[in-house]
Amino acid sequence: MSTLRIRHGRVIDPTNARGEVLREVGVRDGRFATLAPGEPVDQEIDAAGCVVMAGGIDMHTHIGGGKVNLARVLMGEDHRDGFAPWPLPTNALELASCGSCTPGTLATGYRYVEMGYTAAFEPAMVPANARHAHMEMGDVPVLDHGAYVMLGNDELFLQMLAEGGADARNFALIRDYVAWTIHATKAMGVKVVNPGGISAFKFNQRKLDLDELHTHWQVTPRRVVHTLARALKELGVPHPLHIHGCNLGVAGNIATTLETIGALEGLPAHLTHVQFHAYGTEGPKKFSSAALQLAEAVNANPQVSIDIGQVMFGQTVTASGDTMRQHAQSGLANPRKWIGADIELDAGCGVVPFRYREQSFVNALQWVIGLELFLLVCNPWQVVLTTDHPNGGPFTSYPHLIRLLMDKGFRDEQLAKLHPEVAANCALKGMTRELTLEEIAVMTRAAPAKLLGLRDRGHLGDGAAADLAIYREDADRERMFTAPEYVFKDGVQVARAGRITALPVGGTHFVEPGFDDAIEKVLSRHARRHGTLDVGHAVIGHDELCACCNGGRLLPTACFDASVSPAERRAAPKPAGIPSGDRPTDPSGEGQS
Ligand SMILES: [Zn+2]
Ligand SMILES: [Zn+2]
Repeated sequence: MSTLRIRHGRVIDPTNARGEVLREVGVRDGRFATLAPGEPVDQEIDAAGCVVMAGGIDMHTHIGGGKVNLARVLMGEDHRDGFAPWPLPTNALELASCGSCTPGTLATGYRYVEMGYTAAFEPAMVPANARHAHMEMGDVPVLDHGAYVMLGNDELFLQMLAEGGADARNFALIRDYVAWTIHATKAMGVKVVNPGGISAFKFNQRKLDLDELHTHWQVTPRRVVHTLARALKELGVPHPLHIHGCNLGVAGNIATTLETIGALEGLPAHLTHVQFHAYGTEGPKKFSSAALQLAEAVNANPQVSIDIGQVMFGQTVTASGDTMRQHAQSGLANPRKWIGADIELDAGCGVVPFRYREQSFVNALQWVIGLELFLLVCNPWQVVLTTDHPNGGPFTSYPHLIRLLMDKGFRDEQLAKLHPEVAANCALKGMTRELTLEEIAVMTRAAPAKLLGLRDRGHLGDGAAADLAIYREDADRERMFTAPEYVFKDGVQVARAGRITALPVGGTHFVEPGFDDAIEKVLSRHARRHGTLDVGHAVIGHDELCACCNGGRLLPTACFDASVSPAERRAAPKPAGIPSGDRPTDPSGEGQS
């Protein structure tokens, strides 16, 4: 049994209380607990002058899977001595691992933990590559992790959608397919990227707007989005559909983004990296901020949440499943090289290096739009702080971003360095809102936990996992959030004043929605005719997941009560802790051919 008492700290715990509370925080055996007064403890910390928060949770950061590795391969210069913004690690605990926009797995863990983050989620896991994604995240020390599996551009989904017709006659089958894919890949949710568009690109279409027809399957992105959002709602998956919409980065895409919210017809959803989807066509350069319109839509739709994908200036690399849009942007690659790739026609992949410049009109406006969105959405529980690492910039820039949001004077100073037309004319100039510490705590831990359905994370209530960060109060918020005094993961001290002190293995979050296993017959038939993988081999069992993840704990998240009756679904969810070998047998008995 181990105990920890943190005294005299200003506790900011938006899930359980409003504002700051001066109270003691107790930990017993890795969980928050109320300790008896005077109870002797193993460790006591005097947190006078400090702020105590739950550990940070990044719910959209590309840290595992094929794209990230391709980005590392492409960006060799990011891994040379001297290129990285920090010196090579001198901490005895840290094995050498470097890179700034494409850090290695070890550096990814170190840099997050040093900032007080304790969990991170990979948003774009390709089903056929799920094992790799889990292994790579398992190699990231300390952080708990999970991934959203990509659906909506795979051949079988589009074929079923086409066969079902406009009245979705085969919806139950599609829902089972969605659930099976989550089960097989041990995902935490589903991300749709350029709905139907990645597939359309393979049929030579170069754009696909929300109501445009995919030339081969004759379905629209609107139907892709609605079908997936409805399936997840009915399956009771806590994290709603994670949407990377059509027309990423295209001037005037605000119309599509607003219509995408409309296409949901009230279903819950999370719109990701919305900064890249909030562009108007006003002004002499036909490129303008549509942050106000998007913020108004988010304010009017409480079932919709967003993360920003803030752009930060400097060198980075963009890694996206959106092959169509990355192909379109590849001419802007800096340095001039890029990668497009695919596995099993499951989804897509494009890796394009990028350097965001303050004196570029477009880049300066992108920076402005992201900040405007943060400041215009009223309810912080609908907004998650991200740079879409590494797409808008590396996650290590979060402390700088927090200062921009909390300090109007600092924001104005930075704004003055930008392209003069942007600096002079943007609405951001007149915005006086400064986010509070409580709002930052919501956007960086409490809201992500809630949006993912993690009831025992992101807060300091009794029984929650004792993931926490203690920040020394500092008027310079960038300095404050760069190196917390202490970071604890499951009650174990993992960092002290910006230095790693222990490297426990992180756990894996996933969900297990129920489905009718008759779907496996459909999958086997499709795989035999069109694929190279055997469906029986696609399913990652619990033992294997644990092995993939370096022996880290399995953290299944309960689904909400699904809105379809068990009879309708026939098969009950498989209980947690089931040994591996829970692979579907090929109902046809033919196996791979
Ligand atoms: Zn995306
Ligand atoms: Zn992303």
